[in-house]
Amino acid sequence: MQNHDQLYINGQWLTPAGRQTIAVINPATEAVIGHIPEGTEADVEAAVAAARSAHPAWSRTTPDERAAFLAKIQEGLMARMDEIARTITGEVGMPLKLSTRIQAGSPIAIFGLYAKMTGAFKFEEQVGHSLVLREAIGVAALITPWNYPLHQIAAKVAPALAAGCTVVLKPSEVAPLNAFILAEVIAAAGLPAGVFNLVTGFGAAVGEALVRHPEVDMVSFTGSTRAGKRVSELAAQSVKRVSLELGGKSAAVILDDADFASAVKGTVNACFLNSGQTCTAHTRMLVPESRYAEAAQLAVAAAQAFTLGDPMSDTTRLGPLASAAQREKVREYINMGIQEGAECLYGGAEAPEGLALGYYVKPTIFGRVAPGSTIAQEEIFGPVLAIITYRDEEEAIAIANGTLYGLAGAVWSGSDAHAVKVARQLRTGQVDINGGAFNIQAPFGGYKQSGNGRELGKYGLEEFLEYKALQLKPAKAG
Ligand code: NAD
Repeated sequence: MQNHDQLYINGQWLTPAGRQTIAVINPATEAVIGHIPEGTEADVEAAVAAARSAHPAWSRTTPDERAAFLAKIQEGLMARMDEIARTITGEVGMPLKLSTRIQAGSPIAIFGLYAKMTGAFKFEEQVGHSLVLREAIGVAALITPWNYPLHQIAAKVAPALAAGCTVVLKPSEVAPLNAFILAEVIAAAGLPAGVFNLVTGFGAAVGEALVRHPEVDMVSFTGSTRAGKRVSELAAQSVKRVSLELGGKSAAVILDDADFASAVKGTVNACFLNSGQTCTAHTRMLVPESRYAEAAQLAVAAAQAFTLGDPMSDTTRLGPLASAAQREKVREYINMGIQEGAECLYGGAEAPEGLALGYYVKPTIFGRVAPGSTIAQEEIFGPVLAIITYRDEEEAIAIANGTLYGLAGAVWSGSDAHAVKVARQLRTGQVDINGGAFNIQAPFGGYKQSGNGRELGKYGLEEFLEYKALQLKPAKAG
């Protein structure tokens, strides 16, 4: 049992103002594995006040000094890598092997990236007779979801600290235990008091109190589009900067000249990763009408390799969904797909056999999905792939662009140049070309209702900076 009854505020573990707690549930066993404080507005007040008073000194540290702290945090996380992976598998249900590589490996890599990058970043430049400074925006509220919990936290905390911001982190109430590990690592790294603060609790209480707070200068939010809209509305009252990483309904466009075996397998893998609970999941597979039968058969074969079961087991490729609510939502979408007339080629809404406990859903493949239907338009956040056919490339691009979202996508072709030509026409933040891998140095974020702003790489650091121009008087000649 991992019980936490304190919050990390102003460099200390403090007893929260209220007494309520939130239970954390293991989605594979349905057992309670820990408790965290249900923070309140009073805790937010204390955390924001600490961040505010720590900001002047922290923002005046040199980039090298901040980089040294980030390197220490990276080392601290590395030393606890195994524990982080197990904790997140316990909270989220991702198979342990993958959790080790992604859920623990990625945050370590992100802190490492900013430790390296911060010293070399150009925080000022001369433009004509002006000296242009890039200064920390101030106090940043960081609000994160549960699906890649520590990765999403790292993608905000590391660049915010690198920029010279002080932060208040509100992690997801569904998977918050990993955030306590980070807070312990940060405390051990000796970061000055008030630079990093942790307040746990629900979005409607702690999240909204942070977003409304007049002393918070910026909100960086990752989560659902629904909550992102609410955050934008509230933040507008005090004209805060808001950066949003929201949902997606990404398309993998498989062109006629692609290697279908690897393209279809790659798409199914990118759809089912983390049981489909990935904002960049390639949930729509677009194939030429004439190649539908072949693509459908390959997709079913790829789905059959996803052994469902205990995420702690080495042979499991697909764990449960993260919560009972998530399971119900995904089953409803599967039923809706059937009602809407799509062909259910594999899986279905009924409970998988032999798994009496745990929030499991069968990996499911739908064929001949109408591009405008609900399961082709809405983010399902489960292991559900929609195969959609197109007649020509122009139609493929129109279908790919035909949702409210624009987060990610893929193009598969026999030639990279052909794939890139199509990718240029997609209104989406990132496109994987022929299976190109995720890159933490590249900008990450979305077009349209997938969000505003970019995370990771130097782009993520820039989000937390203001510009200031000093107009210098040219020196008199002679
Ligand atoms: P969610 O929006 O319910 O919650 C995300 C976070 O926001 C949580 O910490 C929650 O407590 C908080 N929150 C909820 N309502 C709030 C409010 N009114 N004000 C302030 N904070 C609030 O999302 P979730 O269920 O945790 O995550 C799943 C969603 O996140 C999916 O839609 C997914 O696509 C999206 N997501 C996007 C990205 C990305 O980078 N684009 C990454 C991961 C997840």
